[in-house]
Amino acid sequence: MINFIPNDPLVTDVMPMRRVTAKRDRPAGRAGIILADEPPQASYPPGSPEFVAWQARQGAILAIEAWEKALGKPLTSWAQDADNPASMLVVSDAGEDLNAYYDRATLSFFHATKGNTTWYSGASTDVVAHEAGHAILDALRPDLWAVNLLEVGGFHEAFGDVTAIVTALADRKTREVLLKLTPKLDKANFVEATAEELSEAIRQFYGPGVSASQPRRALNKFTWQLPQTMPKTGGPNVMIAEVHSIARIMSGCFWDVLRGVFLKSGKTTQTGLWAATKIASALFYEASRSAPAVPRFFRAAGRAMVLADEQMYGGKHRDVINQAFLNHGLALGAAGLLAAELVLEGAPPKVRRNVVSVEENTIQDLRGRFAAGSRKPASVTTAELGGEPMANVTLYSEVSLDAVDPRLKGVVAAVNTATLVGSSGGSAALMAAPRSGAPSAEVVDFVRSLVTNGQIAFKLNGGNNKPKKGAVPARPTVPGLGTTHAVRKRGAKQELLRIRFACGWSVL
Ligand SMILES: [Zn+2]
Repeated sequence: MINFIPNDPLVTDVMPMRRVTAKRDRPAGRAGIILADEPPQASYPPGSPEFVAWQARQGAILAIEAWEKALGKPLTSWAQDADNPASMLVVSDAGEDLNAYYDRATLSFFHATKGNTTWYSGASTDVVAHEAGHAILDALRPDLWAVNLLEVGGFHEAFGDVTAIVTALADRKTREVLLKLTPKLDKANFVEATAEELSEAIRQFYGPGVSASQPRRALNKFTWQLPQTMPKTGGPNVMIAEVHSIARIMSGCFWDVLRGVFLKSGKTTQTGLWAATKIASALFYEASRSAPAVPRFFRAAGRAMVLADEQMYGGKHRDVINQAFLNHGLALGAAGLLAAELVLEGAPPKVRRNVVSVEENTIQDLRGRFAAGSRKPASVTTAELGGEPMANVTLYSEVSLDAVDPRLKGVVAAVNTATLVGSSGGSAALMAAPRSGAPSAEVVDFVRSLVTNGQIAFKLNGGNNKPKKGAVPARPTVPGLGTTHAVRKRGAKQELLRIRFACGWSVL
C-alpha cells in the first residue's frame, strides 16, 4: 500500500489523500512507466521524497489508464522518437526548480525550498498527468514536437491540462465530490483547476504578478484573438502570447464541450459524467490526431472535432462543439475543410491500406505556391476528416532569426507549411493551406515569445542534441518558464530546436 494524493496537495481538503494499492507495472506491449529511483514500496509521509516517488509513478500510470478507459483502447507505445518507446522514465525529483518537464527521455519533476517548506512538483497528480499528457500527444502526433507555432505549442499545453482533467474524472470518488460542488459543472472547482500547489509555490517565490502564479482553469471566459495582438507579458488573469496562457482557450473549449455533452445527456449522475467525459475526450483525442498543423491550429482542432463527431456519433454533438468554441471566440465552419479551393497538378491522393500517396507533381505545385524555399522532402500523412480520403502534405523550409534577437544571429528555425490535399472532379485539389508567407511570419512571432519568456538556451553544449537522462537542466538566462528550446549545430548551420516541454517557472 502507498499514500496517494488523487488530485493536488493543495486541495486535499476536498479530495483527501488515500491509502491505495500501488499500480502494478504496465504489461508488456503497453506504454510503460519506470521509476528512475524506486524506494521500497511503503506508505511514506506526504512531503517525503519516497512518497513523491510512488505518488509520481501512480499518477503517471493513472493518466495513461484514464485515456485508455476513455478511448476504450490501449496506448501501446510512447513516441517513436522517444529514448525508449516501450517505457518512459519518471524522475520524481531531478533537482531544485519549480518546474516539470517532458523531454522524450523522461517525465521530470523537481523540488524547491523556502523557509521550512519544500514543494515537490511530482507530488501533484495534476502536474504528473499534465507531463504524461505531453508524452501521450507526442506518441500520437510526433510531428508537433518540431512545429514552431504558438497555437501548436499552446495546444500541447492544453492537451496536458485536459489529461489532468480526464485523469481526475476517471476517478469515481472525484466525480461524486465534483457533482456535489457543482452539479452543472459551471462553478470554479478542483478538477478544472490544475497544479494548484505548484502555482502557489511560484507565487510565494515570484509574487502574484507572474503568469504562472495561479492555477490554470479550464472553466474560463477567455476568448481567442490573433496571438500577435495579445499582450506579450502579464499576470495570471491576462491572456498573453505565451503557450501556457493561450492553452486556457483550448482547455476552455474542452471543458465547455464536456459540460455541454453532460447537460444535454440529461444524465446528471457520476455515471453520466463519466459517459460525457468519454465522448468529449474521444473527440478531443481524434481532433488532436487529425488537425493539420497550421498557424490557426485551435480552429483546425475545433473543425476536426466537429468532423470527428460526424464520423463517430453521426453529428450528435455538433451544436455543443460549435457553441463551446464560439464561447471562446472561435467560429468553426467545419464544413469549409471539406470544400476544395483550388485545383492542383496531378491525380487525387490515393489511399491504400491506410497509407496515402500524393503524386510528385502535386507536391511540386504546392511548393511553388506555398513554400518556394522548401528543399527537404515533403512529408505526406493520411488525414481522415469527415470520411474524405485526404492527404496532409507538409513542406519544410526555414526562416532566419537574425531580426529576433542579437543572440540568434546566424540561427534559423524550421518552418512547417501544412497543406490539406483532397480531390475534386478527378483531380488533386487544395482543401486548406495557410496564406503564402504566413507560416514564416508566425514562426518568427513564436520565437519572439520564447525569448520574452526566457525559454531559449542560446549557447549550448554544441551538437549534443539530447539532454542526459534525469540531468539537471541548463539554468535559464532570465527568470521564466524554463528552457524549452536550444541552439544546436546542424551541419554548417545553427538551428533553434525544441529540447523539452517545461511547465512551471524556473528558479534562477
Ligand atoms: Zn506542459
